[in-house]
Amino acid sequence: MQVLALGSGAGGGFPQWNCACRNCSALRAGTFRGKPRTQAQLAVCADGNAWFLLGASPDLRAQIEAVPQLQPSKGQLRQSPVTGVLLASAEVDHVLGLLSLRELQPLEVYSTPSIRRILREDNSIFRMLNRVPGQVQWVDIVPGQHFWLQSGSEQSLRCQAVSLVSKFPAYVPEPKLPELAAQEALLGLILDAPPGKRLGYFPAVPEVDENLLNILDSTDLLFFDGTFWSDDELIRVLGQGQTARQMGHIPVSGPYGSLERLASLQRPRKIFLHINNTNPMLDEAGEEYRALRAAGWEIAEDGWQFQL
Ligand SMILES: [Zn+2]
Repeated sequence: MQVLALGSGAGGGFPQWNCACRNCSALRAGTFRGKPRTQAQLAVCADGNAWFLLGASPDLRAQIEAVPQLQPSKGQLRQSPVTGVLLASAEVDHVLGLLSLRELQPLEVYSTPSIRRILREDNSIFRMLNRVPGQVQWVDIVPGQHFWLQSGSEQSLRCQAVSLVSKFPAYVPEPKLPELAAQEALLGLILDAPPGKRLGYFPAVPEVDENLLNILDSTDLLFFDGTFWSDDELIRVLGQGQTARQMGHIPVSGPYGSLERLASLQRPRKIFLHINNTNPMLDEAGEEYRALRAAGWEIAEDGWQFQL
């Protein structure tokens, strides 16, 4: 399986358009030792032809143009190797890119029924994906059950969605919530690559219990929530706001942070992704970066490619 990290930042990217924090300011000034990042986006391919997107970031159009593998093959006027999109949540930063895929290209979008209903029933702009017959096929997935990403009539990649305890996005109207299933709000994604290799995609993780630890340790390549370094990071930078945990992200450092909670993992190559622009570990000259490298972690960069 080929894996492309097309984007590695959290919502807003790095630098963020309205942010003048220490990181964003230094990056704009050209004095930052670290990379700019578009919003988190992975693409995977098992057979060399059909590519599947994990999420659909607001930066998707530029991310597709950045890699030849995702561009139309020569000799066809309208064609795309992008075959399907697998959604892990209904968060804006994770679904807005679907609207960049509205040019009547046949696609399959895999999501839980609750995520599908939020997008299709309450947000009429997504009807642009179903203007003509045979455009987007919406495929329901059930957390905990295996399913296959399809390329035409062929089974391409075997997947499993892991339900994570979380809330639906803030834009979902209150009266809608009783109609939705809480276990369908936020998923981690496991993809099995022949022969016997496994990818884990967990860009938002509110907490880690023993069951999740075992699942994470069954992967060979793990992309994990690196949104915030500390629980009070945004409050420290902005003087107000929510903690990382209140926003549904286990912080990297501190008691019960991901460095501590995931220290026992034996199997996977461990890579932080979905990194917020305020996170001090983006600074490769800083002690936070040194600390996570010493703990065996890496930070994803836009354009990284992997073979599983
Ligand atoms: Zn910033």
